[in-house]
Amino acid sequence: MGVLIPREYGGAGLDALAFAICIEELAQACASTAVIVDVHTSVGTEPILLFGDEAQKKHWLPRLASGELLGAFALTEPASGSDAASLQATARRSGAGYVLNGTKVFITNIGRAGLYVVFARTGPDEKAAGVSAFLVPGDVPGVRVGQVFSKMGLNGSPTGELVLEDVVVPAANRLGAEGAGFRIAMRALDSGRIGISGQALGIAQAAVDEARQLMLDRGHEQGDDFALADMATHVESARLLAYQAAWLCSRGLPFTRQASMAKLHSTDTAMQVALDALQIAGDSGTVSGSPFERHVRDAKALQIYEGSNQVQRVVIARELLKVG
Ligand SMILES: Cc1cc2nc3c(=O)[nH]c(=O)nc-3n(C[C@H](O)[C@H](O)[C@H](O)COP(=O)(O)OP(=O)(O)OC[C@H]3O[C@@H](n4cnc5c(N)ncnc54)[C@H](O)[C@@H]3O)c2cc1C
Repeated sequence: MGVLIPREYGGAGLDALAFAICIEELAQACASTAVIVDVHTSVGTEPILLFGDEAQKKHWLPRLASGELLGAFALTEPASGSDAASLQATARRSGAGYVLNGTKVFITNIGRAGLYVVFARTGPDEKAAGVSAFLVPGDVPGVRVGQVFSKMGLNGSPTGELVLEDVVVPAANRLGAEGAGFRIAMRALDSGRIGISGQALGIAQAAVDEARQLMLDRGHEQGDDFALADMATHVESARLLAYQAAWLCSRGLPFTRQASMAKLHSTDTAMQVALDALQIAGDSGTVSGSPFERHVRDAKALQIYEGSNQVQRVVIARELLKVG
């Protein structure tokens, strides 16, 4: 649980490439476990590593690294998904702290998280510039779990509403400066996309491996052989793109474009490869409980969360069209 956390705070002190590989390995066996660990490690913990002060790091990181606390990331709201800067949750200054109100939706690790990184508006009249980030423990008064969603896939990973009703947090729980929240969220999602790429690779590799085993067991036509060759080639190319983004991130080099390309390509690959593997399996692949149908159901959400794949194209185009 502490792959990215330095050893001095109880973590493994590894880099983004090691993290991507960890998530890939987990996702090969279970995509739900992979997203639980991924969200905890990247968007649920990394903002503290990158933007926390020393007191916040000392207080939270050892407990997150040991798994005593599970981390979560609460940005999305009912009326604010891709356009995250339009979020409506509020954090009103009160005495030595803040009072938070609002509803967050589709929060991974809902109800299980001991710590939520919550984004709320401290400047009501602005868009991105009015957003601040807060560390909100899961057990403080006013924090409530709303609806927990029944999803098409990733069913081992709880996703639901986080309701904040007059939640009081001290100023020491604000992450970064007032108004820095949107930048924190976007930076967290940049490297978060490396983890999601790892999750996609794991699902895709599992689908390839299962299709291959089935072909060895029951026999195969050349049509199956060509499909398997294409699937494995797409997974390998997606893997190299993801590892490149992780490598750049690990070395402190710009990686936004590569992480978005990796997320776009690897999650589209996971979806297509999962469908192709099910096609090779035939009727048995459609039966509930078959790994083939599970991969199809699990892969879909990856094209939507941590920035939909349309939003990745917006990011990639913006990076490509930068002048200077
Ligand atoms: C399983 C799951 C887990 C999640 N976990 C979390 C979590 O832990 N924390 C969290 O904060 N959120 C989480 N989310 C929410 C997720 O990040 C959002 O679903 C995502 O940001 C997209 O927002 P939306 O679904 O509201 O889509 P919308 O923004 O309503 O978009 C709808 C469609 O329009 C497209 N679209 C939107 N804007 C543009 C544009 N500018 N250009 C082109 N196309 C566009 C989108 O790509 C999409 O296809 C999770 C979602 C799922 C499904």
